[in-house]
Amino acid sequence: MDGKEFSPIREPEVSEWQDSADLVIVGFGIAGASTALGGCESGASVLVLEKGSGINGTTTIAAGHFYLGGGTRPQLANDIEDSIEDMFNYLMANTPDPDVEKIRLYCEQSVDHFTWLEKQGVPFNDGFYQQKHVEQPTDECLIWSGNEKAWPVSEKARPAPRGHKVAIEGSGGGNLAMKKLLETAEKSGVRFQYNAAVKQLVINLSGRVVGVHYSQFGQSYFVRANKAVILAAGGFTMSSEMLREHCPRLAEEGVMKQGNPNDDGTGIQLGVSVGGVTAHMDGALITSPFYPPESLIKGILVNKHGNRFINEDCYHSRTTDACLKQAEGKAWLICDNAIFGRPLFGMQELVDAWETVEEMEQDLKLPRGELQKTLTSYNDFAKQGEDPEFHKHSDWLQPIVEPPFAAIQCSFNQSIYVGFTLGGLKVSIDGQVLDENSQPVPGLYAAGACASNIAQDGAGYSSGTCLGEASFFGRRAGKHGAALSEKNKQEKHKKVAIKTAAEV
Ligand SMILES: Cc1cc2nc3c(=O)[nH]c(=O)nc-3n(C[C@H](O)[C@H](O)[C@H](O)COP(=O)(O)OP(=O)(O)OC[C@H]3O[C@@H](n4cnc5c(N)ncnc54)[C@H](O)[C@@H]3O)c2cc1C
Repeated sequence: MDGKEFSPIREPEVSEWQDSADLVIVGFGIAGASTALGGCESGASVLVLEKGSGINGTTTIAAGHFYLGGGTRPQLANDIEDSIEDMFNYLMANTPDPDVEKIRLYCEQSVDHFTWLEKQGVPFNDGFYQQKHVEQPTDECLIWSGNEKAWPVSEKARPAPRGHKVAIEGSGGGNLAMKKLLETAEKSGVRFQYNAAVKQLVINLSGRVVGVHYSQFGQSYFVRANKAVILAAGGFTMSSEMLREHCPRLAEEGVMKQGNPNDDGTGIQLGVSVGGVTAHMDGALITSPFYPPESLIKGILVNKHGNRFINEDCYHSRTTDACLKQAEGKAWLICDNAIFGRPLFGMQELVDAWETVEEMEQDLKLPRGELQKTLTSYNDFAKQGEDPEFHKHSDWLQPIVEPPFAAIQCSFNQSIYVGFTLGGLKVSIDGQVLDENSQPVPGLYAAGACASNIAQDGAGYSSGTCLGEASFFGRRAGKHGAALSEKNKQEKHKKVAIKTAAEV
């Protein structure tokens, strides 16, 4: 990541500004939308430059879960007892390198944030989908979307469902949220340029970011940011070069990359080009959910030694992370006739079914007797509703005794693993891009998948954290940027294409 092609342009090299706004926002996904709306409500003029020909960032393919709690309306409507402290303890326990201040604020203002999202037009209802699922088929809002009820986190924070799904049946929640946010942004006076790919930042002589250079249909334009530029251009899932350098696990061929083509790391590169530093770039959500059907959670995951390695009732990216850590990435889900069902998402295949565990053990080439031993011990305890080794919740404990016995292939490279990046620019609690001394790069903010805030890895991830933090910290970035004094003199502009400094 040397980022040479992103080298900033110095202000004196800009012969003419074609446009200006208080806040210039790069990209319009959930982060761009929230920064734009945050800026508008603080009285700033906002211009969004979006590389796509419409709104089609990764948010539009998201399930539409937002991780919020501490007593939101849907939680209260369903008599769910949750508190800021429980949510805080939960997120702290699930995050490898937690930013205490950010997590605290996110939890304290979570109820307000839910209300704000609704006010911006994102629809939520008070329904509660109680089963464990990945993309809930109904439009019910409240969902279990993390490790709340799973050990060891269940001992650190009182479990509560905190996933808030946009009111839509099945998938498409992210897309619906974006449609609504676009409508609100347009009504609020946000201006848009589509097919506008931001290529470089413009800095003044003191190093402050004062604008951007973008290209549209082969022509170059310069836009002045009177107050700030906000990077909201998504992650780097689609940059094989950046993945190889920073996130090798996700770079592997065995992981299907999820995102939009513009998740090429440009936002991060732009930030780095003016002194910003990155954080948690090796973090990725890599997953391969074996449930639904949720009956499969009553199965056991075993490795090539025939041993269990995790409580199977964890959130799917946590069990996937554990599978990846096994020798040769080998793992199978073992179940019996009573709990068997084909994994709904078709990401794992049934290896086979056998009348005895001994035959299964032989065919899977597991060490003789090991799987039988594992199952005998598991079943003995399951009968008593206990799992002393991995503490799977008693709801999911049922002896695996009814033939035929089945093995579902969960190994890396033999089942479908999907993933996207979680790391990005290091930012302050107000979204300011930080340099190597943790000082703000003047005039520059970042939010969403190109920034690093709460989500850091797949083992601790809860569905809804990305949309939650992108909208929460995005809105803060917009408001903070809008509150800056006008550093850059506004100029009259006309929209004409001119040559960039590099082209002259
Ligand atoms: C299949 C899937 C499902 C998911 N479901 C959920 C979920 O339910 N809940 C959750 O919390 N997270 C979910 N995530 C993660 C979440 O969707 C992303 O983290 C989030 O949408 C990122 O938002 P963003 O605004 O940062 O990026 P995006 O939504 O990708 O928006 C960035 C925008 O920037 C534009 N852009 C890029 N480069 C430039 C440039 N140079 N100039 C101008 N514009 C540019 C892009 O075209 C894009 O429109 C999911 C991810 C995937 C892949």
